[in-house]
Amino acid sequence: MQFRTFAIDMPTRFRGVNRREGMVVRGDVGWAEFSPFLDYSAAECVPWYQATLDSANRPWPDRVRDRVPVNVTVPAVDPEHAARIVLGSTCRTAKVKVAERGQTLADDIARVEAVRDALPLGGQLRIDANGAWEVGEAVKAIRKLDKAAQGLEYVEQPCATAKELAEVRKKVDVRVAADECIRRSGDPFRVRDLHAADIAVLKVQPLGGIHACFRIAEQIDMPVVVSSAVETSIGLAAGVALAAALPDLPFACGLATTSLLAGDVVAEPLRPIDGYLPVIRPQLDEVAFAKVAAPPEIEERWQTRLEAVREELDE
Ligand SMILES: [Mg+2]
Repeated sequence: MQFRTFAIDMPTRFRGVNRREGMVVRGDVGWAEFSPFLDYSAAECVPWYQATLDSANRPWPDRVRDRVPVNVTVPAVDPEHAARIVLGSTCRTAKVKVAERGQTLADDIARVEAVRDALPLGGQLRIDANGAWEVGEAVKAIRKLDKAAQGLEYVEQPCATAKELAEVRKKVDVRVAADECIRRSGDPFRVRDLHAADIAVLKVQPLGGIHACFRIAEQIDMPVVVSSAVETSIGLAAGVALAAALPDLPFACGLATTSLLAGDVVAEPLRPIDGYLPVIRPQLDEVAFAKVAAPPEIEERWQTRLEAVREELDE
């Protein structure tokens, strides 16, 4: 299998980076993506690699729906920009990033109010703190932001650890969703065992693939929201396939993230239509790929990462 490296600009800084890099590969059943974040060690990249092989070589599970509801993702931008992002999407649910380093709770409140005003009547608003708050801080911020949102759908990863999530969950009326706690803790079920969350966020690459995620969803005893790791349409499609196969999908998924990338590796990027993504298996398009193909130094870095992961697995 020949892995090909891409480097795509991100117009708005996200997760502290301005560029998304990764690899795509064609296996027995179709194209798949390998794009662990640059700060991840070889050991941490193992499930991402297993997900790539799983997607490339094993048929995807049968779908029970033909389209998947998704949220628009609003990075930690100013209120006017946040409103424009929501108005420019067709989504009825928005996920707002909060607790960004260098910003204040007042910034978060202003962004959440702007998003609430921009959403259609009956639209849902959720926030994601990426584990940035301490417990006391989280409780205070969630109460204020719940008011600003006129009711939050849920708060994702308010604090860093499962224990802290459990504490926050006892003190607020808003549902708590676990993301990093599930995909980076080594034990996705700790959150369930500690009663630390109401909702489990599952991401295909960090959790070892569609089939591994499907099994987690069956055993975690919570509703699941499938989210992306800000992938190209090839990686995203695997998340959509998982969401399409789950028996229950009560919440919109976090898969409408191609808008965060300035390019893609397919001819028609996966973009929501009326707030839903279609369930399709996209293929690499040579014309699109030529525009985002990584320069030699980045390509070399990714080949080295790939080797390191394979060594980790003793391949
Ligand atoms: Mg998250």
